[in-house]
Amino acid sequence: MIDVNKIRKDFPILKRKVNGQDLIYFDNAATSQTPLQVIEVITDYYSRLNANIHRGVHQLSQEATDAYEEARIKIQKHFNAAEAYEIIFTAGTTESINLLASGYNSLLKPGDELIISALEHHSNIVPWQMLCEKTGAILKVIPMTLNGSLDIESYHSLLNSKTKLIFVNHVSNALGTINPIKEIINEAHTYGAKVLIDGAQACPHIKTDVQELNVDYYVTSAHKLCGPTGVGMLYGKKELLRALPPYQGGGEMIASVTFEKTTYAGLPHKFEAGTPNICGGIAFGAALDYMNNLGFDVISKYEAELLAYATNSLKKIEGIKIYGEGLDKTAVISFNIGDIHPYDLGSILNQMGIAVRTGHHCAQPIMDFYEIPGTVRASFSFYNTFEEIDIMVTALKKAVLMLQ
Ligand SMILES: *Cc1c(COP(=O)(O)O)cnc(C)c1O
Repeated sequence: MIDVNKIRKDFPILKRKVNGQDLIYFDNAATSQTPLQVIEVITDYYSRLNANIHRGVHQLSQEATDAYEEARIKIQKHFNAAEAYEIIFTAGTTESINLLASGYNSLLKPGDELIISALEHHSNIVPWQMLCEKTGAILKVIPMTLNGSLDIESYHSLLNSKTKLIFVNHVSNALGTINPIKEIINEAHTYGAKVLIDGAQACPHIKTDVQELNVDYYVTSAHKLCGPTGVGMLYGKKELLRALPPYQGGGEMIASVTFEKTTYAGLPHKFEAGTPNICGGIAFGAALDYMNNLGFDVISKYEAELLAYATNSLKKIEGIKIYGEGLDKTAVISFNIGDIHPYDLGSILNQMGIAVRTGHHCAQPIMDFYEIPGTVRASFSFYNTFEEIDIMVTALKKAVLMLQ
């Protein structure tokens, strides 16, 4: 059982007011809030450890390096990667995907096929479109169905011996759909294709075991799971990462440099050019500690209760349409009411201190599929409460009266 009142004390931001009202934060799918335990690690880093890592002989540099590498091991353990060097620190999901897309530039030839899903975030669409333009590879799309899930039958028929890479999100950020990634991965492997799973939206809710999934690449951002912004990771199987050309050139990623020839460092440094977000990496580790201390079973059980309660309460509002209902999904509700523009609903909720997201949620193809400009998206976290949901539902009813 979750003691939500106790948990809320860990999140100082939840005490603030917005437009004179208590903040109700339902924009967790865009970024999560940060607990004191992580804030303290950040403060401690700049108060006690701040130094550049890996190159220094002095005490601070060694301590900062140790803390950073310990964080890498925490991430490795959390995702059950076989080796710590299979975890590459990046600036987040977007950079992780761009790193891979850049590496695949020299691994693809014209006519190779890539498969994407209709449920992707723009950051898992655009880098691949850019890559296809450069390489002459062809991008194919797994269609979605009306209820917001992937059409897996079509996926099977898209696969063939030319398929090189498949990229699908673990959980859709716009709808919350949990995709059948195990099945997608297994099927891809029978054709020798590799699979990248975008885990940005899954990691706050689901503990993922990359070896059990047998996934080739898995990416996420720390800020969706109680960590800071601007840091994330790319997991890759070691043999694949070794075969992948480096992403950026610079310090830290080399073994030796002369003007005749530069040799690259081994994993993970080959992909970590320049001074990284050291504090961010350490705080990422602290965020995983915080979530694991609560326990992912406990988190997902409570969030499922919030989701069921919110879905029931929202459905009582006349004219509401929820997209992606009845799915295996995380605690995300995307909806519209009548023909009210989502932005207008979001603005009125904001006046009442309630933070939701409105718009296309960086997933315009999904909005095009439903022929809507966007939705209102309320996304819940383990620090949200049933009372907050009641307040939002009351606020929405008031908003409808004002707008209709
Ligand atoms: C948030 C998100 C991203 C982008 O993450 P950044 O931290 O902005 O790089 C990509 N995919 C999904 C599914 C997301 O939810």
